[in-house]
Amino acid sequence: MFYAGSHISASKGYEAMGKQALKLGANTFAFFTRNPRGGKAKEIDEADVGRFLELSKEHSFGKLVAHAPYTMNTCAAKEDIRSFAKEMLADDLRRMEYTPGNYYNFHPGSHVGQGSEAGVAKTAGLLNEVLTPEQSTTVLLETMAGKGSEIGRSFEELRAILDRVELKEKMGVCLDTCHVWDAGYDIVNDLDGVLDSFDKIIGFSYLKAIHMNDSMNPLGAHKDRHEKIGEGHIGLEAFARVLNHPALQGLPVILETPNDDEGYAKEIALLKSLHNESDR
Ligand code: FE
Ligand code: FE
Ligand code: ZN
Repeated sequence: MFYAGSHISASKGYEAMGKQALKLGANTFAFFTRNPRGGKAKEIDEADVGRFLELSKEHSFGKLVAHAPYTMNTCAAKEDIRSFAKEMLADDLRRMEYTPGNYYNFHPGSHVGQGSEAGVAKTAGLLNEVLTPEQSTTVLLETMAGKGSEIGRSFEELRAILDRVELKEKMGVCLDTCHVWDAGYDIVNDLDGVLDSFDKIIGFSYLKAIHMNDSMNPLGAHKDRHEKIGEGHIGLEAFARVLNHPALQGLPVILETPNDDEGYAKEIALLKSLHNESDR
């Protein structure tokens, strides 16, 4: 099965998100669990979630890839920012249980001068405080571009976080094509080599989702500026190879490109056509 979708606004609730996904031709999607800049989340309307669960079953949706707010810095130097992150993470995971068995993706944080080792330890420490054996949600670390003092900019840093997390079976990784490219992983000329090193360092069993974005910048730029598929430095041919790579089949593919609804519908159709090319 091929699962593709885009980011969808959560402002009108779950059923509205599901219907919007169908309108775009998607069978999975991403949404912010609360305002991307943080703040209080809307309480869950159980009837709304119930209607969504039915709809997603009827249309055989793949796993959803919820996204934490950008402001959630799990390795902040300031204790109040970190405890705010802990509250947000715990509350988001509680609300994720209304849609059991899906993915919750987050940026592993910015160490802001503490050094990446300290950042890794703090983020893993916070996960150990919040993850529970009962949760059905898998928490994904996103591969980062290495902008500023972001941690998670290398497979080694993600591995270092996973090494320190006790409930490893609740963890996974989301590979963002723009971010790994900006971090210096050449998925255009050496996709096999990049995936091979992902497997050796992290392990494919942790790879749960793909954020599919082209990049406005050249390899290793550490900028994190997303571009429409095929219009940036990664290019269409490389995306066709990513979509058809045997190691990446069955994973939800989420677009985070600069698009309106019409643009997303077109890009989802494009991904489907690129994916099917290999069958012809
Ligand atoms: Fe992200
Ligand atoms: Fe992303
Ligand atoms: Zn990004």
